[in-house]
Amino acid sequence: MVGRLDKQELEKFMKPFISSIWRQPPSDLAARIEVCIRDACAHFGNAEPGYIYFRADDVAVAGRQFYRMMELFSNYRVPLSLAVVPAWLTPERWNSLQNTGLKSSSLWCWHQHGWRHFNHETDGRNQEFGSARPYSEIKHDLLKGRQRLENILGSHFYPVFTPPWNRCNLATLELLKECRYLAVSRNCGALPPSPEKLPDLCVDVDLHTRKVKDPVSGWDRLFKALKKDISSGRCGIMLHHQKMNAAAFDFLDILLKTIKQSKNIVLVNFKDLV
Ligand SMILES: [Zn+2]
Repeated sequence: MVGRLDKQELEKFMKPFISSIWRQPPSDLAARIEVCIRDACAHFGNAEPGYIYFRADDVAVAGRQFYRMMELFSNYRVPLSLAVVPAWLTPERWNSLQNTGLKSSSLWCWHQHGWRHFNHETDGRNQEFGSARPYSEIKHDLLKGRQRLENILGSHFYPVFTPPWNRCNLATLELLKECRYLAVSRNCGALPPSPEKLPDLCVDVDLHTRKVKDPVSGWDRLFKALKKDISSGRCGIMLHHQKMNAAAFDFLDILLKTIKQSKNIVLVNFKDLV
């Protein structure tokens, strides 16, 4: 049973916000993706390959866009780490999510995305696990979320924590370590730094929640970030399927096809990285 408040929160997230770059994609999209990946891979030479991983956020309901996203990852055999919001999930919803990816279950890493994706901060940026809350509440919600996912997902649950909005306080990071989570996943360079032995499987490339006024410069920045991160040897890419339109699906299709064909790229999920 999903509570009334959680239903309202979930509905807010289902509302389509489409970033301006997806309303105005470049006409030479495929060529630009190919050049970007080719140039990024040129940095590897014959040394170590580059690792790319994808993280899909706000997962709980298997709607049309979720099916389509999973179909692309399944068809190209590309691993995906899925951040599931515990309070939004029900056993029925889990059945639908799981059925969507059943044929490719080894590709997925289902993990925890907060508890109910609710902002508790009164000033500053949104956080569910931020400094506005006492330690006892943070611990309560963290473990409640984990238990709910363990109960519903069983052995499919993997103990990695993606905090909503990619940020949380030090107490949360220390609790994650104490409660034997294997990793956290935030924005690259997020503060405070994660404690020793709690790797941050960070994401730096945001595909669908980019707030840009000018789509032309927005596209330049997106390709620049992709190229920089891939050529650095490690690139985490964040997806929000509810905010994807036809152009965003075309981009993902071409991107997955192109990187899959690249010999110097290894595609992984959080399990492989931990
Ligand atoms: Zn989220």
